[in-house]
Amino acid sequence: MTGQRPDFIPPARPIIGEAEIEAAVRVLRSGMVVQGPEVAAFEQEFGEVVAGRHCVAVNSGTSALQLTLLALGVGPGDEVIVPSFSFAASANAVRLVGAEVVFADIERDSFCLDPDAVAAAVTPRTVAVMPVHLYGHPAAMDKIMAVAERHGLAVVEDAAQAHGAGLHGTPVGAFGIAGCFSFYPTKNMHSLEGGMISTADAGFARTLRLLRNQGMEQRYANEIVGANMRMTDVAAAIGRVQLTQLAEWTAQRQANAKYLDSKITNMITPPVADAARHVYHQYTVRVRGDRDAAQERLTEQGIGNAVYYPTPIHRLKPYLGADGRPGPWELPETDRAAAEVISLPVHPTLEQSDLERIADAANLAGGAQ
Ligand SMILES: *Cc1c(COP(=O)(O)O)cnc(C)c1O
Repeated sequence: MTGQRPDFIPPARPIIGEAEIEAAVRVLRSGMVVQGPEVAAFEQEFGEVVAGRHCVAVNSGTSALQLTLLALGVGPGDEVIVPSFSFAASANAVRLVGAEVVFADIERDSFCLDPDAVAAAVTPRTVAVMPVHLYGHPAAMDKIMAVAERHGLAVVEDAAQAHGAGLHGTPVGAFGIAGCFSFYPTKNMHSLEGGMISTADAGFARTLRLLRNQGMEQRYANEIVGANMRMTDVAAAIGRVQLTQLAEWTAQRQANAKYLDSKITNMITPPVADAARHVYHQYTVRVRGDRDAAQERLTEQGIGNAVYYPTPIHRLKPYLGADGRPGPWELPETDRAAAEVISLPVHPTLEQSDLERIADAANLAGGAQ
């Protein structure tokens, strides 16, 4: 890093505390490091986040999505509806199983999939819809579930950014056939790398367990073709420590967001839908004027900031048509969001003085058009 101020506030700050290190060392010393008792305990304990659903741990959030689609039998000839305003992993999982991605637009306020756009994108080949709870705000799951039911679609929730978020008291990951979480270091909790799938269906959970481990339940008695997407016991031990902090960290993120909401007047602060529980993986504002100038001002003030995501997935190279141009998608809210958003630091290790600096800098930057 060059030219960074000593008082720079990073956009994210992954936590690896003494308890995480001790947990990892304990497992390493035990010599039993691959998927074992720590993974089983982590799955059991993570159930509390998803209203007691079955949980299946895997080696990443992307694996969670891909394994879920495999377990659903999604493949060539099938279409899956995905928002374009997300991390590429959401769409990549669909393409990795050989199915086709159909992009639908987002709602302006929540940045999440628009249920009407989902309904309009359904074709006879649609088999599933994958709402993303972007930035930690739940997608409009009540309406999306209704659309899915009407058309017989499986709902796979991409909850990679939304551990503990919810709508009308139901946690994300407890709406669809499956919820997919990530434990990448910058997420609301981590296991270095890792992922978790939640499901209410015990048979589906068993299929997921087979698929993540070469199709085996009993060693060398392979029942189906499977992959290796196992989580290690080292990762699970770290995840278990992080899970004990999740409620506290989430409350701190929410308190930080509340403070920023109350102080930032020169940018559009993130709205929260009725009955939604936002867990602020990101605190994402919209800038009315010149975003590049606003980002520069923030950086000058030592405020880490980032654009998630500057290029919607439908404009990324692997998703362009054969002519090298985006497909015939009409995604005005997606393009608008990609052009307007900036995420500001909201992580739980911020001090009050950091929050004051972030709000002041945001007001300066937002007024600098
Ligand atoms: C992080 C993320 C993923 C992928 O998770 P990994 O653990 O990095 O594989 C998928 N979807 C979204 C929306 C994410 O933010």
